[in-house]
Amino acid sequence: MMKRCVLVTGGAGYIGSHTAVELVEAGYDVVLVDNLSNSDEQTIEGVRRITGIEIPFEQVDCCDREALEEVFKKYHFDAVIHFAASKAVYESIEKPLMYYRNNLGSLMTLLDLMRKYECANIVFSSSAVVYGDAEHLPVTEQSPRQAATSPYGNTKRMCEDILHDTIIAADGAMRAIALRYFNPFGAHPSALIGELPRGVPSNLVPYITQTAAGIRECLNIFGDDYDTPDGSCIRDYIDVVDLARAHVVAIGRMIEGRNKQNYEIFNVGTGRGVSVLELVQAFERVNNLKLNYRIAPRRAGDIIVSWADTTLANNELGWKATRTLDETLAAAWKWQQVLMSR
Ligand code: NAD
Ligand code: UDP
Repeated sequence: MMKRCVLVTGGAGYIGSHTAVELVEAGYDVVLVDNLSNSDEQTIEGVRRITGIEIPFEQVDCCDREALEEVFKKYHFDAVIHFAASKAVYESIEKPLMYYRNNLGSLMTLLDLMRKYECANIVFSSSAVVYGDAEHLPVTEQSPRQAATSPYGNTKRMCEDILHDTIIAADGAMRAIALRYFNPFGAHPSALIGELPRGVPSNLVPYITQTAAGIRECLNIFGDDYDTPDGSCIRDYIDVVDLARAHVVAIGRMIEGRNKQNYEIFNVGTGRGVSVLELVQAFERVNNLKLNYRIAPRRAGDIIVSWADTTLANNELGWKATRTLDETLAAAWKWQQVLMSR
């Protein structure tokens, strides 16, 4: 059978690079597009080393219609996975227009070109951020979306709407799956690719690994007086390789026409909530080290508890998270050590 080709925008980024590896391993041809605004070419080299394939890379901004059109002229794509976006919540509060322009603009440009070049299938990176502080847990795909607390969160919600309306207007000619990620963490077991936080990380796991590495002096645990079993916030931490595999099955579902609707949404998490303190203790135990941490005041705007109901993804996509918290925390630490030796 002819190999199918997938365009991965944001392919030099954290989740895009891991997904590129899983796509190649599942037998797809892959083309990576990235403007390297939050990544570097070393990641692409990492993907090429893991797969043993000289995967094509085009350094293009997805908002640049002419440049992106050249990519559509050069290759034929059966599907697109759209990761390219700006993702720093706090930066988005300072630079809202940059976030709306980049995250909405890149999606709209892409959808336009997909229609023009008859590429019918798209997977979009959405986020559990659209649920806000959910009233009922675990969070299902039917849980209402809530007003976002940042422009970044708003872009995810608005992009979902843009996608939905475009798919309806395409009247059967296009299909989309939005994956709502919970909290991605970890790195590829090879430690050839992983997360590359710029500056001081705002996410918990890179902050932990940087503290263990001595780059940060002390981890602040934002609040231990919430109404949770140990007082710290709870999240659903999903291994990045498991998350990458969810994209591969989503692509297969659309290409093989197994989708039930032209626009579908799936939660991607483990179905298990883990507290900040539990995560820190697991990190210490698994990697046999002591982390310097202290209890700090609550972080403004934090969601208290969030974890996914993954029944739909389990039953419909046939996808399930497989990697344990311990395995992923070990992989995250191994990756941090590789970064230090660079
Ligand atoms: P990342 O920053 O590592 O990857 C995004 C990549 O897109 C980067 O390599 C960046 O250079 C590129 N990019 C940004 N704007 C671009 C543009 N206009 N044209 C071309 N390339 C562009 O981020 P990630 O963690 O891999 O996230 C991937 C996607 O998943 C994003 O859409 C993000 O919002 C979403 N997401 C991430 C998380 C998370 O915690 N990491 C959670 C939920 C959703
Ligand atoms: N967190 C923390 N210290 C940090 C970074 C994060 O205690 O330095 C907590 C944060 O308050 C939240 C959880 O870890 O409860 C996950 O935070 P992250 O920013 O990684 O994800 P998000 O809040 O966007 O789900």
